[in-house]
Amino acid sequence: MLKTYQYPKYPFVRPAELDHPEQTRHVPVVVVGAGPVGMCAALDLAQKGKPVLLLDDDDTVSIGSRGVCYAKRALEILDRLGVGERVVQKGVSWNVGRTFYRNDEVFSFNLVPEPDHHRPGMVNLQQYYLEEYLVDACRATPGLEMRWKNKVIAVTPGETVVALRVETPEGAYSLTCDWLIVADGARSPIRHMLGLDIEGKIFMDRFLIADVVMKADFPAERWFWFDPPFHPGQSVLLHKQADNVWRIDFQLGWDADPELEKRPERVIPRIQAMLGDDREFELEWVSVYTFQCRRMNRFNHGRVLFVGDAAHQVSPFGARGANSGTRSICCARINTSRHAGVRSTQTQSTPRLPVPPIATVGRTEPKRRSERSRSCHSTPNPTSTTRKNTLSTTIPPVTTSTRFELPTRPPMGRDPNTPAWTQHIAFEVESMDVLLETKARLEAEGIEVVGPTDHALFQSIYFFDPNGHRIELAANTLRPGMLEALDKVKWEMLEAWRQTKRAPQHARWMHDGRYITMFPESQ
Ligand SMILES: Cc1cc2nc3c(=O)[nH]c(=O)nc-3n(C[C@H](O)[C@H](O)[C@H](O)COP(=O)(O)OP(=O)(O)OC[C@H]3O[C@@H](n4cnc5c(N)ncnc54)[C@H](O)[C@@H]3O)c2cc1C
Repeated sequence: MLKTYQYPKYPFVRPAELDHPEQTRHVPVVVVGAGPVGMCAALDLAQKGKPVLLLDDDDTVSIGSRGVCYAKRALEILDRLGVGERVVQKGVSWNVGRTFYRNDEVFSFNLVPEPDHHRPGMVNLQQYYLEEYLVDACRATPGLEMRWKNKVIAVTPGETVVALRVETPEGAYSLTCDWLIVADGARSPIRHMLGLDIEGKIFMDRFLIADVVMKADFPAERWFWFDPPFHPGQSVLLHKQADNVWRIDFQLGWDADPELEKRPERVIPRIQAMLGDDREFELEWVSVYTFQCRRMNRFNHGRVLFVGDAAHQVSPFGARGANSGTRSICCARINTSRHAGVRSTQTQSTPRLPVPPIATVGRTEPKRRSERSRSCHSTPNPTSTTRKNTLSTTIPPVTTSTRFELPTRPPMGRDPNTPAWTQHIAFEVESMDVLLETKARLEAEGIEVVGPTDHALFQSIYFFDPNGHRIELAANTLRPGMLEALDKVKWEMLEAWRQTKRAPQHARWMHDGRYITMFPESQ
């Protein structure tokens, strides 16, 4: 029992399936595990209109002292999911970290050296608060059904559906789903059920976590010591959390006896040596942990997708577990959106990380159409922000680097003086086949698509992405001689535009169909 926090107890509600065992319910997506990653994944999908059933074998939030630090990118995702503000309000924001060797400061960093960022570099908050806020958001989200004390005990992946057996305090029931997102934590019972491996190593070291409640005027910074006089030969880490709870991690070494080291008579002298005898504090939580760095070779297994600690585990130092887990939820959305109801076996050795639509990533396609035909069509004028855009759900990134917003300035809006379709981002796809296939896939997802519209040099389809950004996808249909013909009239066209501010007619053949006879497909 903690002094500063009371664990909520969420009620078990008898599932209707128990009363109709002859019917097997089918749902689009089941997420197993209501830890931070499972809840973020479920929220992300439900907010994008995909119905989700979230199952957890427990009935409360994370017990004890686990995740502390949440980084800027995770905060952006939490903002999008609707819990960022609560996390920031309750947590302790910090940017500066200091590293000491014995008594001397040897290194410091500032995660956000510029002023006026919307969010700090890090926020420290006990994981149970984060989870509580996520539970509240899940419960308030239409299309997201959450079930406590529902433990998945069997998984049968199929070509078109995944079958599950779920155990509850009042009996077991069966379900099927299109996609199963597995967020059942580092031990991942489902990984075991499916006989899947996770590779990596366990570090031969032990760390004591001592959370203490104390009033201290130390700055809200991360302090890390190597070989400090109060704990010679080992490292120590200090973080301030909410409610005046301070997290102290003492390195103990592999030979330490975990049970012995957890006893107050061992812990308290260590803390007194660090803080001084006069400092008043109360122990809030004590545990000893070892850590592992492990990763599954593949996160996607047909219709079963692994996310969070179930898929990858890292050392708590660097605060990467939940932080990286919140990012991997986007991959889950990408996959569940990509083939829902279309085909079953998309596999990748690693998940596609969420990428901004125009990113410095080493891919070659698609190019921005504007790069080759800028003068002939409205120039893309993106109002999108890289943070918001979810275009990567359908299209790989391009090679160019572009900035859509400055983090230190208020976000951009759409130009209110033009209709909604005017400002758009254009991407080139490989071929007409890809264009038509993409149109069919979007329409199967219920997304309205305009086109293909024939622009002679290329054909385009248009749609709005989930954030409301107008997207154009274009396939090259250039015929021999077209570019040369345009090249000849380009200066005249510009001059005509300068003088009249009316669409020049020099290349009217592009729009009235004459190009078909003027430029045969092959010469
Ligand atoms: C000491 C320590 C410090 C850390 N510090 C940080 C930090 O500062 N920052 C950070 O980002 N991360 C940190 N982490 C890591 C972070 O705690 C984890 O990465 C995070 O909890 C992983 O979330 P998850 O949702 O993947 O899994 P979990 O939080 O483990 O959740 C898994 C859920 O699945 C449920 N479940 C399991 N099996 C079943 C089943 N069969 N059926 C139904 N439900 C099931 C469980 O009850 C649980 O609710 C720290 C971890 C430790 C141990």
